Amino acid sequence: MPRISKKVCLLGDFAVGKTSLVRRFVYNAFEDKYLATIGVKVSRKTVVLPVRDGLVELALLLWDLAGSEEFSAMRASYLRGAAGAILVCDVTRPDTLAGLTAYVDDMRRVAPNAHFVVAVNKIDLPDARLPYAEVDAFAASLHTSCYLTSAKTGDQVEETFRHLGRLLVAGD
Ligand code: GDP
Ligand code: MG
Repeated sequence: MPRISKKVCLLGDFAVGKTSLVRRFVYNAFEDKYLATIGVKVSRKTVVLPVRDGLVELALLLWDLAGSEEFSAMRASYLRGAAGAILVCDVTRPDTLAGLTAYVDDMRRVAPNAHFVVAVNKIDLPDARLPYAEVDAFAASLHTSCYLTSAKTGDQVEETFRHLGRLLVAGD
């Protein structure tokens, strides 16, 4: 089976659940307390995906960036070489969707051919305030899909990462 590896960045505002989504996907675990990510953490998970003539083993190198402003100057170097990004917003905080546009612009400057998938996270919470029509329109503007995820319950987390994985292997 051919093996490839791709760098993927988690992008989104403070506390939307970037670190939690990686933790759920890689370790199948969840942590309630907030552990601010300092700098960058890289996790690795391999998925097997169908391609035209068989299967491919894709190692996802998941770069989890701190979202806070102090790191904005360093952001370009973290984005360099990325093949794709998971754009994460929080279903209880509508402003976190608007925030994603800036991350897309940053990413495109550094990695013009990057693929995106949108994750609307914390879907387990009852106080959803994000208008889904706006999320759909945003995802459509990027020619991609959006998933309603919960890092807490695991809902749609695997699907989100695998969808990006399929875009990455299709682009090869
Ligand atoms: P990051 O700053 O984007 O990396 O956010 P974190 O992954 O650290 O999560 C921020 C807070 O939201 C933490 O307290 C998490 O436990 C919580 N959280 C993350 N994902 C979910 C989720 O899907 N559901 C719920 N209820 N809480 C979540
Ligand atoms: Mg984090």
